[in-house]
Amino acid sequence: VTRAYLDRIAAEDGRLGSYLHVDADVALARAEEIDAAGSAGDGLAGIPVALKDVVVTEGVPTTSGSKILEGWRPPYDATVAARLKAAGTVLLGKTNMDEFAMGSSTENSAYGVTRNPWDPERIPGGSSGGSSAAVAGGLAPWAIGTDTGGSIRQPAALTGLVGHKPTYGSVSRYGLIAFSSSLDQAGPMARTVLDAALLHEAIAGHDPLDSTSIDSPVPVLAECARRGADGDLSGLKVGVVRELGGEGHRDGYEQGVLDRFAEAVALLEGMGAEVREVSCPAFDLALPAYYLIAPSEASSNLARFDGVRYGLRVGDDGDRDLDEVMALTREQGFGPEVKRRIILGTYALSSGYYEAYYGQAQKVRTLISRDFSAGFADVDVLVSPTTPTVAFPLGSRVDDPVAMYAADLCTLPASLAGVPAISVPCGLSDGLPVGFQIMAPALADDRCYQVAAALE
Ligand code: GLN
Repeated sequence: VTRAYLDRIAAEDGRLGSYLHVDADVALARAEEIDAAGSAGDGLAGIPVALKDVVVTEGVPTTSGSKILEGWRPPYDATVAARLKAAGTVLLGKTNMDEFAMGSSTENSAYGVTRNPWDPERIPGGSSGGSSAAVAGGLAPWAIGTDTGGSIRQPAALTGLVGHKPTYGSVSRYGLIAFSSSLDQAGPMARTVLDAALLHEAIAGHDPLDSTSIDSPVPVLAECARRGADGDLSGLKVGVVRELGGEGHRDGYEQGVLDRFAEAVALLEGMGAEVREVSCPAFDLALPAYYLIAPSEASSNLARFDGVRYGLRVGDDGDRDLDEVMALTREQGFGPEVKRRIILGTYALSSGYYEAYYGQAQKVRTLISRDFSAGFADVDVLVSPTTPTVAFPLGSRVDDPVAMYAADLCTLPASLAGVPAISVPCGLSDGLPVGFQIMAPALADDRCYQVAAALE
């Protein structure tokens, strides 16, 4: 199996650009070792997997899509990587991504763009676009992505995959290169709901190495995905978010996306679900709040890239002092979007502005959580389109950061509230995939899988 995927990668990845690092010899040696151990009865033994390059892997180059980490080989495994190793999976390679996971198109990678297998002139979504392109293109059976504001769900939606952002704290962040620590979560990207559930179960569970890890049992998800496939949703209450694809949505949604969404809602109703519209007025403020909170945390997290501790060091020729070396390294090591976020975040956190920007955004975050709580008092799941549009053409938004940020309109509320959300394919618009998002209360990830499996 590993060899088959490596052959696909060799044949196709020159065109797609989904991987940053593949070592075929190491992958095959690992596969042979697993074959020799004869552990085929263990769930995932011998199944290849691709990891987004934000996941730290022992001895394997890890860049987070940035020049500043070029050449860095981490001395340890992220918990997600360690758990997949322990489950017997084979690491196929590390996938391309927007630098430090900042972006929605994978065009912010320092190592070149990734193309959408459905149309190579279009983006594969982002920031986990290497993972989405690899799985959609048949270059990996499944992959790990990370989601801070939508980076699993949005690329999954735009490439016709299933992608799930777990409840915040339910998958360890230990060894994920931090972007925005109060939002970052790793999760599965796969071709079917059941695959996503199996991959999710393999990485979930408490981890004492992550101080925000929730100490609760590993959720039972594959069972729910199997049950959901029966297509009986009687008794389930579904809320269409008025502000996200419902009656009160803003401009910017493509008609084809709204049509596929409405059809999927009708399908849920046909399976016995009770559908109503739920208003979540604070969701309209999710975008500005996120684009203050995430850059603020990033400006702090990225301070560690100082030219001393990791990877790149520029100008260390004996004539320059430490400050100059740090400044040169950061100037040359970070790309434009990363610099934009550091400047925005530093500004939002500076004294005199803190209350007006960061403090205000945190209050909005609380209002969004309250909208979810009120909504979940009436319904079991909330639904929306995953993205307002289908995959857009390469280059069409790179000069317009605000247009790029608008790709996250529907995914940001669940991120800010820490609740689980899944994207499942719900048909095509103009020949391109459309995603359907299902959001559930914290720790009720199983509901996302159950409803997604019913729709699949
Ligand atoms: N597109 C969003 C951003 O640029 C979300 C990215 C993510 O989830 N990592 O911040």
